[in-house]
Amino acid sequence: MSVSIAQMEEARRALDAPLFADLAGDCQVSFEFFPPKTEKMEETLWNAIETLAPLGPRFVSVTYGAGGSTRERTHATVARIARETAIPAAAHLTCVDASRDEILDVAREYWAAGVRHIVALRGDPPREGEKFQAHPDGFENAAALVAGLKSVAPFEISVAAYPECHPDSTDVAADLDNLKRKIDAGANRAISQFFFSADAFFRFRDAVEAAGIDAEIVPGILPVSNVAQTRKFAGMCGAAIPAWMDRLFEGLDDRPAARQLVAATIAAEMCRKLYAGGVRHFHFYTLNRAELSYAICHLLGLRPNPAAAEKAA
Ligand SMILES: Cc1cc2nc3c(=O)[nH]c(=O)nc-3n(C[C@H](O)[C@H](O)[C@H](O)COP(=O)(O)OP(=O)(O)OC[C@H]3O[C@@H](n4cnc5c(N)ncnc54)[C@H](O)[C@@H]3O)c2cc1C
Repeated sequence: MSVSIAQMEEARRALDAPLFADLAGDCQVSFEFFPPKTEKMEETLWNAIETLAPLGPRFVSVTYGAGGSTRERTHATVARIARETAIPAAAHLTCVDASRDEILDVAREYWAAGVRHIVALRGDPPREGEKFQAHPDGFENAAALVAGLKSVAPFEISVAAYPECHPDSTDVAADLDNLKRKIDAGANRAISQFFFSADAFFRFRDAVEAAGIDAEIVPGILPVSNVAQTRKFAGMCGAAIPAWMDRLFEGLDDRPAARQLVAATIAAEMCRKLYAGGVRHFHFYTLNRAELSYAICHLLGLRPNPAAAEKAA
């Protein structure tokens, strides 16, 4: 990777204290939510959206539950964001347990509802531990889904990328080939799986460039405040949880406020390193809670923009 003068200056500043002094606030952010199951969860989600909207996100996205289990709820949530806010809304869509026609019908419904951005994924098998099996009339992987979506309408499309390699890939080269197929099929950018080492992301970004993949790779940031839950997710998606993470949260089980402070510190420090390495778009896995992501954005120099808040209201 070649490093520009501006990046070297940034790296020098990152080594000085205080780490977060006077950042320009020149980065963009996006926020990921999951569709709520209950009225209470719906209220929590909308509080989170209202808190984060004034930061002027580039887009917000809503996940699609394993096996298409949240199909209606994902649609309802994305459609409501598109209807009631000015934030561009993206719908996640997977290939699991559905025929091509069924999936493309869902995409047509999104287009009709004014949704222009899809996060196109293969999805995980509905039952943990099984191998992914394509539906007999379905899309075999995310690359095929991207091509299918492009045949429906000129969607903006994001796909998934794996700084620490997807567990189904035989090796890093195969994983990169797969990412290239998704971009060549028409995806605009890749959003990464979460990770806890800025160096792992930089190595991946270099490998992507060396593989001739000319697309934006947006790091996915998971602010962790519950290590046990994160370990469960990480096991399924090939992300490594460093041993220091356990040690940092040791003894904090009954101290939620301290846990939040530790969580914000870890994630903000990693984002600061990514920023020093030239990253200017961060995608936050919010788990429908605003405060941690808001605090990290604030440390990165973002401030509420009254125009964005008004548009989002
Ligand atoms: C940003 C982000 C958002 C996500 N959102 C959701 C969500 O909303 N709902 C959900 O269920 N899951 C979601 N996931 C998880 C995702 O569905 C899983 O990680 C899934 O196992 C892989 O999906 P993919 O789109 O990366 O698959 P693909 O890109 O299709 O690849 C999956 C694996 O199969 C291999 N592969 C694919 N095609 C071939 C081929 N032709 N030959 C050989 N190998 C091949 C690839 O190398 C890779 O290892 C998300 C992941 C990320 C990073």
